[in-house]
Amino acid sequence: MSIQQNLKHILSEVPKNVTLVAVSKTKPVATIMEAYNAGHRFFGENKVQEMVDKYEEMPKDIDWHMIGHLQRNKVKYMAGFVRLIHGVDSFKLLKEINKQAKKHNRIIDCLFQIKIAEEDSKFGMKAEDVSNILSSKEFSELQNIRITGLMGMATFTDDEAQIKKEFMYLKHTFDTLKSFETFNFKPEIISMGMSGDYKLAIDCGSNMIRVGSSIFGARN
Ligand SMILES: *Cc1c(COP(=O)(O)O)cnc(C)c1O
Repeated sequence: MSIQQNLKHILSEVPKNVTLVAVSKTKPVATIMEAYNAGHRFFGENKVQEMVDKYEEMPKDIDWHMIGHLQRNKVKYMAGFVRLIHGVDSFKLLKEINKQAKKHNRIIDCLFQIKIAEEDSKFGMKAEDVSNILSSKEFSELQNIRITGLMGMATFTDDEAQIKKEFMYLKHTFDTLKSFETFNFKPEIISMGMSGDYKLAIDCGSNMIRVGSSIFGARN
């Protein structure tokens, strides 16, 4: 199927309140433009330099999502345009995002990445770390970031029960953190689900899915 058909198919399956982030990492601009020309505007990248290059080459009405692990020294390159940073996993990183956003006179939306997988390889914080940050004075002083929800990545496995358990845990964490809502913590988004598990993720409460290979085909 073509990229356009893949997009149409996925969008026909997911409820209207779910945002589909098309994960375009490793794919060339010409390929991504096929999705753009089909009307899609939300794209996800996991490397800052690659996202910056694509941002410069492509139309400016695209919402660019940084979905990968982020190093503090790279934040400055995308602070002027990034729409949502999914993988915030430390207060230090959040402070740097706030600092760079301020230089651009913007407020950058971010998600806290929660470690939900049992594997050691996945990044993320514990729910407890997040509640400690949210209740700190330092957090209340960050004027140029807004935490709009949580992100998680399930274990890479065929065991659906395992994945479901991890997704349910992220939903539960989201629900318990809701009471912390303030001017810079507005929990609305649960970013979970990829090509292999987005339907399950939506059943468990996801409203933002990050789908790459089911749209653009396998990556090398
Ligand atoms: C690559 C990636 C995806 C998309 O994976 P697919 O299996 O190709 O849909 C989603 N989320 C993150 C964080 C990724 O790095």
